[in-house]
Amino acid sequence: MPKLILVPTPIGNLEDITLRAIRILEETELIFAEDTRVTKKLLNHLNIQKTVYPFHAHNEHKALSVALDRIKTNTTTVLVSDAGTPGISDPGFLLVRACLEEGIDIECLPGPVALIPALVASGFPCDKFVFEGFLPHKKGRQTRLKIIAEETRTVVLYESPHRLVKCLGQIEEFMGGERKVCVAREISKMFEEYKRGTAAEVKAYYEAHPPKGEIVIVIEGKHE
Ligand code: SAM
Repeated sequence: MPKLILVPTPIGNLEDITLRAIRILEETELIFAEDTRVTKKLLNHLNIQKTVYPFHAHNEHKALSVALDRIKTNTTTVLVSDAGTPGISDPGFLLVRACLEEGIDIECLPGPVALIPALVASGFPCDKFVFEGFLPHKKGRQTRLKIIAEETRTVVLYESPHRLVKCLGQIEEFMGGERKVCVAREISKMFEEYKRGTAAEVKAYYEAHPPKGEIVIVIEGKHE
């Protein structure tokens, strides 16, 4: 019975790969990766020699039938993305759905993902939360922000560093400058940083200190 296993990979610190992830990468017959160069670097670091096939975001639809044919002729296939958990703001969902439609087993190992450490360290309630991924850049962005403004659960967003100040400005505009936020930057890396405060305070900080690296924004839910 063929099986697809989604294997999360480190989001910064290479020590965050699990023992099970390493064993599965060693044992699997086939690896699909978002970017084969990125995955080969990780495999080299782990001393694993394997052929890695591309499974890109921009050809996810086209790549499906080729991938499915390969998955069916192997016992286990692994899908990895560049960092974190495949399918979370990364390619993966379409392949999982297509495999399930074909009766192929799916497993996803627990492992690195950026949204969970950001949420838990934010200090906002994490018993219930909403993950919005990346907001649309233009069309539909304001609509999402208006919906998020009314959300009573904690909201988690992914954002690029060059759009962080703009995004915090929009949180101020749509939710008020007093809405509390936490910006988690470079989680598990050398320059890891958490900035907590009101949207206005955190925006002022990043206007004065233009951010680099990878960013998660956590927004406190609207008080009921
Ligand atoms: N699949 C990944 C995951 O499981 O979190 C997410 C991939 S998405 C293409 C990349 C985004 O995730 C970044 O722009 C950033 O918002 C967030 N991210 C990834 N690594 C991060 C890190 N070390 N610190 C903060 N945010 C990170």
